[in-house]
Formats: sequence, structure tokens, C-alpha cells
Amino acid sequence: MCPLFSPPLFMQRYQFVVEFVQKHEPKKVLDLGCAECSLLRKLKFHGNGIELLVGLDKDSSVMRTRMHSFAPLSSDYLQPRSGPLTIELYQGSVTQPDPSTHGFDLVTCIELIEHLHIEEVERFTEVLFGFMAPSNVIVSTPNADYNPLLPGLVGFRHHDHKFEWSRKEFQLWALRLCDLFGYIVSFTGVGVPADSHTNVGFCSQIAVFNRDPSRQDSALQCRSREEPTVYRLLYSVVYPSLSDNNILQRTLVNEVLCRAELIKRSWLSGEWVAKTAPEPFMQGSSVCVSLLDVWACPRVKSLCGTLWRFTEALMGELRVELTPARHAIIMPADEEEEVEEDEDEDAEGAGTKWTTTTATEDWDAEMPNNSNSNLPDFHGA
Ligand code: SAH
Repeated sequence: MCPLFSPPLFMQRYQFVVEFVQKHEPKKVLDLGCAECSLLRKLKFHGNGIELLVGLDKDSSVMRTRMHSFAPLSSDYLQPRSGPLTIELYQGSVTQPDPSTHGFDLVTCIELIEHLHIEEVERFTEVLFGFMAPSNVIVSTPNADYNPLLPGLVGFRHHDHKFEWSRKEFQLWALRLCDLFGYIVSFTGVGVPADSHTNVGFCSQIAVFNRDPSRQDSALQCRSREEPTVYRLLYSVVYPSLSDNNILQRTLVNEVLCRAELIKRSWLSGEWVAKTAPEPFMQGSSVCVSLLDVWACPRVKSLCGTLWRFTEALMGELRVELTPARHAIIMPADEEEEVEEDEDEDAEGAGTKWTTTTATEDWDAEMPNNSNSNLPDFHGA
């Protein structure tokens, strides 16, 4: 049978969330009724700024089917993300409050609410908007007004649906909860009807809620209640990222080793190796080489001085310096004296010049949180 929509309706719902995430850049996202975690997978791929991605479903077997696909790949270690990312999957019911659901920027409920008994909806509404109280909520649910257009449909769209709301019923629910919990709502949807039936609305109706900043009080009242942990953690993974000092150090050492080896080979052979070696250029009488993308990371920028120590050791008799633009400069041997004079100037505040680090600098001093420095010692290499 031909799908009614292209792309299929479920994809359009996910895409709606992805676009919202790309626009609003939430850091913490919780997907309620995540099932096989398809939306979470999409968000992991497209939601660059997300730091915490959590899924919840009452059915652990459905979550388990593909949850191990979240395990980091070797490429995630070779090219770590610049920001942190933790993914957690919980088993539990959306009708029960759990402290792990506090503090989210966005909570999504995609085709979930119609699976709850109508008396559970009341409890769910209280838990979601009163207890979790996220900054933004996206709720999608079938639009019953559209059902007459679905060929061969008898009853509800899915055997587990307990109800399907008309646009009016959905909007009444949404507006009432906004009033109770201090949210502002806008209505939209996905699955546009054929032209002749435009009065039925979207096939999937969507409400987007934003917490009303002038009404923080109502949400906070419920949030202040202490609730015990009731959800069961099924899966948790922390992705390697440059925000972790150990990963940052290891990545930088690898990058420097690799790049310095290329520079050294090219330099010693007297020929720059096309494609594999960085394109050299001249700055004054010095040969300059741009370094890898990882050097653009803000944390790395602040560590450029320290990198000199590695590069120096690796380059043997060649002198390499880093400019503020993160270019490595291979210095002719007879300019060493001049460089040291420049360093003195810098130390006295010639702010626009670049500096080298001294032999006494170390990673631990640069990175105060690092308690596990396992760097190789390049001194005197
Ligand atoms: N959001 C997913 C799946 C929707 S199907 C998607 O769009 O693809 C609805 C899901 O809600 C099912 O996986 C079901 O197990 C889950 N669910 C139903 N009642 C629930 C409850 N009380 N608490 C948590 N999850 C529930």
C-alpha cells in the first residue's frame, strides 16, 4: 500500500522536533514514550548542542530492541565531540514523578498521550507540567477530525489508542493546563490534507508549550515536593568529548604526534607532501603550517602555549612556534635568539605577539580539574 504522506507521517513528526531543536538549541532533552528510541537517535545525530538526551518508556522490551546502537563507535573516540553528551534510558510511567526528569529544556511526547487512559491523562498532565516543569514541551497526537480521510479506518488509528481527540478537545486540554501551570501554547501539526479537505486540520496535531516566565510560581509549587526515585535506569552512556580533560589531552597528543610527524617528514625530505601534509605558507622569513580542526575548539585555543612543549620534543632540532591564529611556525635555527627576545617583550605585555611556554608549565597547571594526568613525558625527548 502506498504511504499516505511523503515523507511518512512519523518522519514528519521527528523532523518537526529536529527543526525545533536546531532552532532553540536545548541542552537537555527528554523524550517520553520513546519506544525504540528512533527520535532520540535522530536527535543524537542532528542536535549538536544537546548535552543530555534521555528516553523514558514503560515498556523496557521495546526500548531494549535497539538501545545498544547508542554505544560509541571507534570513530567517536578518534574524533571526539567538542561538547559533552550523555544518553540515558529509563523504564517507568509518565504518570509517576521521578527526580531524574527535573531541569529539562525540552520534553517531547510524540504520539504518547492517546495511549493513556483518560484518567491517567490528568495525572500525566500534573507530572509533566507541574513536576517536570520543563522550559518547552512538544505534544503530538492524532487529530480525530482527520480520520474520515484515512482510507479503510474503522475506530482508532492504533489498537492501543484509548482515545483520539478532535482539534477542539486537544486545544481545550492544552489551554486549561496552560492556565493551571503557567505555560503559553501554540498549535500546529504535520500531514497536510489534500486541498479539497483543508478544513480538517493536520493529520497529526501538535501543541508547542513554552513556560510563561511571568508565571514561574505555579510550576515551582509542585516542583518543590521531594519525590523518591521510581524509574529504572536501563542504559547510560557518556560520549567521549573534548570537554573531558583526559580525552582532550589524548586527542591533542595524537593530533600533535600525527601532524608533527607529517611536518617533520616533509621538512626533512625538502618537499611538502601534497594532500597529506598541511599546505605551508610564508610569514616573514618563517614557514607556517595550519593545524587540524581540533585546534579551533575553544578549550584548545587556551592551551596553545602548552602544545609547544610536545611539538618541540617531536620536532627534534627544528623549532616550531604557535601563533595566535594557531599556525605552527618552523623557525630557522639562527632566529632562536630573536625569538627569546620576542618572548621577553611578550612577558612585558606586548599583547599582540605570541608566546612560547616555559619548560615548567604542565597540563595539570593548565587544566585545574585534571586529577589523572597520564601524559607521556616529552621533556628531553
Ligand atoms: N514516541 C514514539 C512511540 C509512540 S507509541 C514514536 O513517536 O515513535 C507510544 C509509546 O508510549 C509506547 O512505546 C508505549 O510503551 C509508551 N507508553 C504508553 N504508556 C506509557 C506510560 N504510562 N509511561 C511511559 N510510556 C508509555
